[in-house]
Amino acid sequence: MAGEPQGDCLFCKIVAGEVPATVVRESETTLAFRDINPQAPTHVLVIPKAHHTDAAALAAEAPQIAADVLREAGEIARQEKTEDDGYRIVFNTGAGAGQTVFHAHAHVLGGRGLTWPPG
Ligand code: 5GP
Ligand code: ZN
Repeated sequence: MAGEPQGDCLFCKIVAGEVPATVVRESETTLAFRDINPQAPTHVLVIPKAHHTDAAALAAEAPQIAADVLREAGEIARQEKTEDDGYRIVFNTGAGAGQTVFHAHAHVLGGRGLTWPPG
């Protein structure tokens, strides 16, 4: 059921403290931690604590929490001092677009020049 923890989900395990992560921010509804394989000097993942499969599902099932994820992404950019230079918020959606963990997450990338379009 939407929002319920999934036993086989890596990010649900991070929320539960069963898998360690370098947490940079936490709110009542969200958790933000550094990506294990960073693609930029700042590469933080912001996730809802509740399980939703992707960003669109999150927005449909829990719109306030989708807003919380975006607000926290902006707070991370401010905290990491990438706000003025620009940063990117990415939601890979579907395996064909590179989604490998099917628990909604925003990538917050910054600290280097970011080309457009991405690959
Ligand atoms: P996706 O490819 O689904 O958009 O993003 C999943 C991200 O999770 C990848 O960037 C990957 O490096 C990161 N990741 C995978 N396993 C772990 C882990 O155990 N800990 C952390 N912190 N990040 C992870
Ligand atoms: Zn999950």
